[in-house]
This record gives sequence, structure tokens and C-alpha cells, in this order.
Amino acid sequence: SKEPDVAKIRSRFPVLDQEVNGKPLAYFDNAASTQKPVEVISALKEYYEHHHSNIHRGAHTLAARATDLFERTRSSVRAFINARDVEEVIFTKGTTDSINLVAATFGKAFIQQGDEVIISTMEHHSNIVPWQMLCEATNAVLKIIPVTENGELDLQAYEELLSEKTRLVAVVHASNALGTINPIKKMIQLAHQHGARFLVDGAQSLAHLEVDVQELDCDFLAFSAHKLYGPTGVGVLYGKRELLEAMPPYQGGGEMIREVTFAKTTYNDLPYKFEAGTPNIADVVAFDAALSFIQSIGKKWIQRLESQLLAHAMERCSEIKGFVPVGTAKDKVSVMSFTIRNMHPFDVGMMLDASGIAVRTGHHCTQPLMDRLGLEGTVRASFAVYNTVEEIDRLYESLVRIAKRKN
Ligand code: PMP
Repeated sequence: SKEPDVAKIRSRFPVLDQEVNGKPLAYFDNAASTQKPVEVISALKEYYEHHHSNIHRGAHTLAARATDLFERTRSSVRAFINARDVEEVIFTKGTTDSINLVAATFGKAFIQQGDEVIISTMEHHSNIVPWQMLCEATNAVLKIIPVTENGELDLQAYEELLSEKTRLVAVVHASNALGTINPIKKMIQLAHQHGARFLVDGAQSLAHLEVDVQELDCDFLAFSAHKLYGPTGVGVLYGKRELLEAMPPYQGGGEMIREVTFAKTTYNDLPYKFEAGTPNIADVVAFDAALSFIQSIGKKWIQRLESQLLAHAMERCSEIKGFVPVGTAKDKVSVMSFTIRNMHPFDVGMMLDASGIAVRTGHHCTQPLMDRLGLEGTVRASFAVYNTVEEIDRLYESLVRIAKRKN
């Protein structure tokens, strides 16, 4: 297919067309959340203007229509990650919710005193705290894969941590703080050789990399729609059917039951067993438009455009006196994490904002990783498919001015 026209892609995002502090907005906070194309915004409006009803069970036309729209997104997600069945796609509130679901229910069914769960030093807090809570409640042991100086997982150490006590490994596919892409396929194979299950935190990978759950053979995959050009408040948990079937429900309530009596309640089939209560119907419906948007460009092109942006940013910024890149793995998604010598990351972020440039600063919900690297935090510029080389040149020029003050 032919190279997409970035100007045309960009024109689909109304929010980008504004000035911030008197300068055109350059939005480089995409790892925190991407902006939304008009397709997604119109899908939300259209849904509420024409189709809204509660879903499943309704006898009337709107209920059937809303149900179809909701379930259509489930089919699209299935195709997007190449899951075998739609029943393996559970809608949640986001990555955090998906991971908590697994910690609570897989934990209940399969984790006991003395068992081991492995995570890494590179994890987002949402892939740390639920496992700490589980291990505390069950007296299981949490083991941590160390990270090397350049921000990669120590795979040798990982192999040494695996044993017949390991029940689950939960690791991020691409680091939100550094961009490092972890070799999860190989890590999954290793976990399986020890009879352990593997959860992939895909919060940062689904927008950039091809992810095929059957090819990876992961047991669980968690991700958020809002980092995929879709609405906030929607996430996905993919799980292998046999596992989801063996796990108890998460929350109790409507939708997740088959029959309720005071003597005994039976649970609904997958995926509804894990979707108690009225879900976030409108945002799930609009998420379908985000998936179509991504497919219309193609992950191959998205990856190519974003790697060009990252390479350009790194090449230019590396010339700046006082610029210190953080996380120099060879294999990265489009995240440029850095510090400016003698300056606090937050001050750098504020000065960039004064020039209309939006970045994130701080620990990026990865405090153990920052501790490992001996940093309080970094400045993070993360690129999406609508960013341009001109915007990156503005970032470079602003950083030159900012760094000069203290270097
Ligand atoms: N894991 C990673 C790697 C992330 O980047 C994020 C979002 N910053 C999360 C988990 C949590 O996602 P959410 O806040 O959408 O639940």
C-alpha cells in the first residue's frame, strides 16, 4: 500500500488544530493517551443521537441495535488481536481493570501460599500493585526480573527466576517510560516450559506493533482503548478460553448470571461472566471506529512513520549539550525519554508547554524503574501517527534554548 499522507491523517484530529500559549499545539503525550479522530467523536454522537439503549435482554428495536453495535466492536477486537473466539474478548474499564480482574480471579483459582508470580522492574504500577496485593493476601511470593542500565530486561535472570513454583509471569510488552520492546514471544515460551501462565501488558504496544495472541501464545493480554485513538473508560482483557472458564467471576451483579436464587446462583457464559452490570456501551461502540482508523492506515505504516519520527528526534536532540537519553534499547516504540542535565524534568516540561509543546514529566507510574536508573523522573516525548517532523524540529529548537540555560 502507498505511504499515508500525514497531513490528511492529522486533519482527522480536531483537537490538534489549536494554539496553546500562543503557539500551535505539538502533542507529544501519546503514551499517556492519544487524541481522537473525528470518526470516533462522530460515532459517540451518532450512538447517543440515534441508537442508545441498554443492551442484551431487551425486547425492543433500539436494544437490539445497541447490542449489535456493542458486539460488533467485540468482533473487531477479536480480529485486531487474532483471538480464536469472540468469547475470549472481555470488555473492562482499561488495562488497570483488566490486570486487576486477572489478579483477583486467576489468583483465586490458581495462586496459593508458596507459589510464585514474576513481574519486572520495568512494570507500570498497574502491573505491580495488583500482584503485590494478591501475594500479600495469599502468601505467594513476588519475584522481579531486573533491568539493565540501558533499560532492557535481564533475560538470563528471568530464566533463573522461573521454576516449577512459578504460576504466572506478567510483563509489559513495550515500556511506557522508556519505549523498550520486550522479547515477549521468547519469554512466553520460557514461562510455558515451566508450566507458568503469561500475561502481556499491551497498554503501549497495541497502537504500534502487530499483536497476534495466537502467534504469541500469551495466556492473557490487557490493553486500553484510549491509547489506541479510542475513547477513555474502555479496556480489553483477552484470555484463553479454557483459563477464563476455569476462573471464578470477578464482580457479581446483573448480566454475569444465568440464574439467581437464594439457594444457588449460576453464572453466565463467557464473555458475560466477567462483565457484571451495564457496561460502557457508547465508548465500546465508538472504539470500533478507532480500530477501523488504525486498520485504514495499517500497523506497518504506523510503525514506519513513528520510527522515522523517533530516529529524527533522537538524531537531532543528541546534539544538544546536556541532553541525556534514558532507555537506549535497540528495539523501541516511539518514546523518547530523557533528562536535561542540571534541570528538573518538571521545569523542562513547563518550559516546553510555554512553547505549545505537550510532554509528560515525572516517574510515569514506574517508580521502581526510576529507582533502578537512579532518577527521580524523566521528560517523555511519545509520538503518534499524526505527529510531524516539523513538530519535532520545534521540540529540538525549544530544548536547545532550555538546555543552554544550565549547560
Ligand atoms: N500499563 C502500561 C504500560 C501503561 O502505559 C498504562 C497507562 N499509562 C497502564 C498499564 C494503565 O493503563 P490504564 O491507565 O489505561 O488502565
